[in-house]
Amino acid sequence: MAITPLMPVYPRSPVRPVRGEGVYLYGENGEQYLDFASGIAVNLLGHGHPHLTQAIQKQAETLIHVSNLYGSPQGEAFAKRLCDLTFADTVFFTNSGVEAVECAIKTARRYHFAGGNPHKNTLITFNNAFHGRTMATISATDQPKMIDGFAPLLPGFNVVQFDDLDAALAAVDDNTAGFLLEPIQGEGGIRPASKEFIAGLRKCCDENDLMLLFDEVQCGVARTGYLYAYEYYGVTPDIMASAKGIGGGFPMGACLASEKAARGMVVGTHGSTYGGNPLAMAAGQAVFDIVANEAFLADVRAKGERLRSALEQMIGNHDQLFEGVRGVGLMLGLKMKTDSRAFVTWLRTQGILLVAAGDNVVRVLPPLVIEDAHIQEFVGKLSEAAAAYQVPEAA
Ligand SMILES: *Cc1c(COP(=O)(O)O)cnc(C)c1O
Repeated sequence: MAITPLMPVYPRSPVRPVRGEGVYLYGENGEQYLDFASGIAVNLLGHGHPHLTQAIQKQAETLIHVSNLYGSPQGEAFAKRLCDLTFADTVFFTNSGVEAVECAIKTARRYHFAGGNPHKNTLITFNNAFHGRTMATISATDQPKMIDGFAPLLPGFNVVQFDDLDAALAAVDDNTAGFLLEPIQGEGGIRPASKEFIAGLRKCCDENDLMLLFDEVQCGVARTGYLYAYEYYGVTPDIMASAKGIGGGFPMGACLASEKAARGMVVGTHGSTYGGNPLAMAAGQAVFDIVANEAFLADVRAKGERLRSALEQMIGNHDQLFEGVRGVGLMLGLKMKTDSRAFVTWLRTQGILLVAAGDNVVRVLPPLVIEDAHIQEFVGKLSEAAAAYQVPEAA
């Protein structure tokens, strides 16, 4: 047999972590890596954070799972916390980001169905978007690497140019249910939408009774120095998907909605076996204990500024490689003049973990608990690695 036991859908690198401690990961043979990828914006508290691991341990000893057929004191408490801290009035818990986006899509369609407009079932989405890998969410994108070979895609999505308000508004017709977007595109290359674009979509939704859906799976949960990125934009969505950082590494997600937006999501319309189980709720609560306060968020913004200016200074010394730094808070991207994937591969050999993204961008997504010493270590090592880097011929 040539196929590997793990279905070979990932280009797995030689990095094989077996242990983590704070901002560092350790491989099978003790190799140390500075982890500024955080499992792709997941490990907000770094690795082995005592508050998170103890909360999970304690809950595991008490009660891991019960069905959503029963009352959930744990789910009610975390949902209430999310509602108190955000625009939302109600929350559906999932096990992943893509399920949170699925729930957001279903909620938007049911909103119009419940309003007597079942034909309003098409979401306007944006190029270079990433919403996950289910049939619905790949249908919401135009990226060949995600959709090739999976036809027929689902109808009900209309992909237009990201951050182009005129294109978005021109796409609205009688079948439009709303807009689905990442306010700051992650996989697509750390591309923040402009404030005008986001405000324009909100205005259009208000005027036409459409739903504004934010996919904050990557940019949410304090990553930008705001609990959710919509606060940075000063624009409130109707429905929002959250995941990745929300469990600090424990697999979970959430679909948040206003009472109005969730009017169609009545008994029997949606469900999940595991979603919102006590173990997941304990993890989510532990993460929020740490990140959901103004002092922590202000610190993320300040560290984001310091990391950004250190990177800006550093790239000046490696003009042939880097074009600029972009992003918000600790969701940063280094735009490269050469292939970002090859550079990320090289960095792994130098003990630095980052993630490549579209548009030749290298994502810098450190744990939010980094200290200034980590920023210095990171930028120093990155600069050394950049100086030693030989751009591959066919990059
Ligand atoms: C990662 C991601 C998803 C999918 O999350 P999974 O947990 O992998 O299902 C969806 N949307 C965005 C913006 C993401 O970054």
